[in-house]
Amino acid sequence: MTTAEPRPIGLYLHVPFCKVKCLYCDFYSMPAGEETKDAYVQALCRSIDAADPLCDTVYFGGGTPSQLGTARLTAILAHIRRTADCEVTVECNPGDAAALDFRALADAGVNRISMGLQSADDAERRALGRRSDAATVRRAVEQARTAGITNLSLDLMLGIPGQTADSLARSIDFCLALEVPHVSAYLLKVEDGTPFAAMRAELALPDEDAVCDFYLQTVDALGAAGLRQYEISNFARPGFESRHNLKYWRCEAYLGLGPAAHSFLDGKRFFYPRDLQAFLDGQPPVQDGAGGDPAEWLMLRLRLMEGVTDAAFAARFDRPLPAAFWNSAERFARQGLMTVTNGCAALTPAGCLLSNPIIGTLTETVAE
Ligand code: SF4
Repeated sequence: MTTAEPRPIGLYLHVPFCKVKCLYCDFYSMPAGEETKDAYVQALCRSIDAADPLCDTVYFGGGTPSQLGTARLTAILAHIRRTADCEVTVECNPGDAAALDFRALADAGVNRISMGLQSADDAERRALGRRSDAATVRRAVEQARTAGITNLSLDLMLGIPGQTADSLARSIDFCLALEVPHVSAYLLKVEDGTPFAAMRAELALPDEDAVCDFYLQTVDALGAAGLRQYEISNFARPGFESRHNLKYWRCEAYLGLGPAAHSFLDGKRFFYPRDLQAFLDGQPPVQDGAGGDPAEWLMLRLRLMEGVTDAAFAARFDRPLPAAFWNSAERFARQGLMTVTNGCAALTPAGCLLSNPIIGTLTETVAE
């Protein structure tokens, strides 16, 4: 008798190292020496071996995974059981690209690179505390592509100090000229505890109306160029959507390893604390209760432009969405914040700007 192979899952690996902290960043990351990086890779590999998941997506996030260098990244990949078509993404700081061997990474299975551009305007990049200039980003994209990695994503940021509609248009054009098939566009949020929070009074932040206009400008410009919005902050040519990140929004299983990494596995959520030493010491993750209930499913799923249907909800929960859900969705549709078409409810770009209150109202209709 053979034992059926479990369904493949997504694997997220958090790399908590950055050469220099960006002024706005509250991700868990820090500068580290070579010995610490070696010790971390060993701890990560021990965790991978212990869990031994079969993966159809792997995502190296951070922090700055590219700070590990080619040899450590390929060593980690050698420990991961993967399906033949596994999507393997590495977040890469453009400034690290010159020291990376993209061909060796591709040979090891890396087939997707995500890079932080934030802005093609070097003054805006400096205002964020980013190290490299736009020319370095261009070279990094070309380097990855020459090595055969064509599934490339750039991050844009909206609401940067000093940003204007014109400077944003130039940043979008920069992405389009490089013909990357995926762009993520995030609104700058001044997080407590960051240098930006302490500098808030002197930051020339665009006002809220301007940032909303920037968002709609981005949706329009990327959409017109064939990069379809598929999630509130994500845009792709058809077939280039991030398969790994889709697992989060579709409430599918993933394992996260490393400090600050979260997991959703077998209906349970758990996470590793933001504590590098605890992870190096092999301390177990913190259990965070059951996940994937109807409200959570809806909260995540509504971020996707594919929207929600009775059939998708019933496939998960054996019942259709309640009438109260559809009544609220119709009300938002009359305000131009959602579309309700052929039994499918989805946010419009204007609705994305108000996603928190809209999704909050809709999830209340299915709360158990
Ligand atoms: S490179 Fe990314 S993770 Fe590192 S400090 Fe900057 S924004 Fe944060």
